[in-house]
Amino acid sequence: MVDRRPLIAGNWKMNFDHLRAIAFVQKFAWTLKDAKFPTTEVEVALFPPFTDIRSVQTTIESDGLGFAFGAQDLSPFESGAHTGDISGEMLAKLGCRYVIIGHSERRQDHHEDDAIVSAKTVAAIASGLIPVICVGETSDDLEKFGASAVPVGQLREVLTALKPDAEIVVAYEPVWAIGSGQAATPKQAQDVCAALRAVIAEEMSPEAAEATRVLYGGSVKSSNIASFLREKDVDGALVGGASLDAEEFAKIVQFPRHVIA
Ligand code: PEP
Repeated sequence: MVDRRPLIAGNWKMNFDHLRAIAFVQKFAWTLKDAKFPTTEVEVALFPPFTDIRSVQTTIESDGLGFAFGAQDLSPFESGAHTGDISGEMLAKLGCRYVIIGHSERRQDHHEDDAIVSAKTVAAIASGLIPVICVGETSDDLEKFGASAVPVGQLREVLTALKPDAEIVVAYEPVWAIGSGQAATPKQAQDVCAALRAVIAEEMSPEAAEATRVLYGGSVKSSNIASFLREKDVDGALVGGASLDAEEFAKIVQFPRHVIA
């Protein structure tokens, strides 16, 4: 049985300048330290805006905080005439371990389709980053096709472009649950995460499916995190709004204290 260490990822979206980012990381770290929470039990990853990454990196590294961090997007290109874009190599040089790809806000605001998500995922892996591939259905999709069909189709398209041994994280984020305060039920999350794991087994290998962390995201808070993490195929959470409050995010990270085995 592969040990999938839970991953709690905080997507800050377009919030916090670099000074507020430093203050956040320090307060968050103190809060966990005060609570005597062993940070090895859960992997914590912060996803600040590009302009904050260097500050987050130096704060984490100089204080030996042990949090991972990453970017919210990257260019599908390696380098060159792509004004405003940031390459995977640039992010890797800053110590990023992860990069979020295909978040529904990018799919909506920037018309990113599955082909772009695939190209960005390939670029991330080529740069040594672990892509956090976001998939999820809108409320219309849910009504028309049920919960799994769209996220499964989105993931399948990306996986066909990858080598079977690629390291990835998958985040199931129903679009209707993001920022709405209306989270999926733990059973809904479990059913779709299990379907996504089955696609990984088909398109990559059963071993990859067993080793890959599948996260749930959408209105996760300290009051509901434990109910998701009790589910067999939910290996962590991608947290938006609640990751901007250091005390609340620290409570989310401490979910093992509330999960009854
Ligand atoms: C997100 O943006 O990835 C997200 C899950 O947001 P929220 O937690 O605010 O719903």
